[in-house]
Amino acid sequence: MFRLETDAAHLSAELSEVIRLFTDEYDPAVHTVAFYCADKSPDKIRIQINGTEFVYDKPDKNSGGSKLENRMFIRFAKIALYKALKSFFKRDLAWGSLTGIRPTKLAYELIKSGVPLAGISQLLQNNFFVSRPKADLTALIIQNQSGFYTQNPHYINLYVHVPFCPSRCSYCSFVSVSVDRQQKLVEPYVEKLCVEIQKTVQLIRAHHKKIYSVYIGGGTPTVLSDTQFARVLNAVTHSGTFTPGTEFTCEAGRPETITAQKIALMKNAGVTRISVNPQSLNPQTLHAIGRNHTAEDFFNAYRAARDAGFNINTDIIAGLYNETPEQFLHTLTQIIRLKPHNITVHTLSRKRGSALKENRVTEFASGVAQMTHSAQQSLMQSGYLPYYLYRQKLSLENLENIGYCLPDTQCVNNITVMEEMLSVAACGAGAISKLIFPSQNRIERLANIKDVKMYLERFDEQMHKKEKFLSNSTQE
Ligand code: SF4
Repeated sequence: MFRLETDAAHLSAELSEVIRLFTDEYDPAVHTVAFYCADKSPDKIRIQINGTEFVYDKPDKNSGGSKLENRMFIRFAKIALYKALKSFFKRDLAWGSLTGIRPTKLAYELIKSGVPLAGISQLLQNNFFVSRPKADLTALIIQNQSGFYTQNPHYINLYVHVPFCPSRCSYCSFVSVSVDRQQKLVEPYVEKLCVEIQKTVQLIRAHHKKIYSVYIGGGTPTVLSDTQFARVLNAVTHSGTFTPGTEFTCEAGRPETITAQKIALMKNAGVTRISVNPQSLNPQTLHAIGRNHTAEDFFNAYRAARDAGFNINTDIIAGLYNETPEQFLHTLTQIIRLKPHNITVHTLSRKRGSALKENRVTEFASGVAQMTHSAQQSLMQSGYLPYYLYRQKLSLENLENIGYCLPDTQCVNNITVMEEMLSVAACGAGAISKLIFPSQNRIERLANIKDVKMYLERFDEQMHKKEKFLSNSTQE
């Protein structure tokens, strides 16, 4: 735990993020961090950690007048605090001072400001204290994204959210509920969702945008009945705003929901890529995390999806339920043998809203850094390329999630959404639409209501907001 005292209240959230990297919220010891950079310390940044003082010169410019200067000062303040914490706790962190910004997004920002790709790794190491392996990885990912995205303002991604799952995984904090518990809401939800999709697509067309990629996620879209699922797919495909061959992903995350009928429906609708996610192939782990399927279910679903000719992604998670590195790597080895096009390696995150967090589970697998490091080595030796990366708050050992792909199978939706390169028109409860204005360095967001019941009750109000919101999409 920690207590922050500062004379720069507007920096509290960012400073707290850095302190959290070094302190454990379940640790009963309270660390007191004082950060002064305004009234109490006009020329210097003064940081005290449990009474030990660290002093740094302020950067030349800190008028706080312009947005850019403000942003640069926040960055500087976080780096100063990181340096102090690192000295105090005598610990270096793999991602150094980076919090609240995706490493690749920062790298793109640096490239835009004139730093060559070859200089990115060194700059991340020197200026942000990122370790060499992570800095090299960031540069490699930028390289592997090359040629797989566009920033054309005429394109937009379409996202559709189905917030139901067969059961709730213990680590899940997504907008998703067990389908059995909300059965009576499923049908009205599908009805409204289809209306929202049709309306959204009309707006996209009216504003002369083209769909770059489609992603139906959740939740587990394939948990819907065959007819409900077909209606959602039809609402998307009847839009006529995307051409055959457009990347069209459908999450079919829970293997037990993947039936021959669902596969046929996806195939007919032009779905090109599906996710079949075991998370682990260890039976004890699957049971402990609240998933109802077996490893065998995964292999059967995988074979059926592969035989139908989809590009396949599989997700696994490092750090689940006291798994050892050997157990985790055993899962990975079995998956690599299948040669899916994409493998995404997540690190367990104790997110707010998850059962793990609510039940204050404090015992987690150890050696997670070793797991993700070995995973990276095995995957790269097997011909996979790391091609996108994101970090989540509260992930074990502050590690990251990395998407790997076989050459030329990069998921363009993952790249353009993660890197905030293209706008997103999102449909469904809790779905967040984003308008990206690269030339103005600006992003606008519109979130639908998360709660399914409220989403249905206030549907018309949300559609009005969306209409107004998407009309801004022509501003770039
Ligand atoms: S399958 Fe995914 S969305 Fe559904 S409960 Fe599990 S983690 Fe959450």
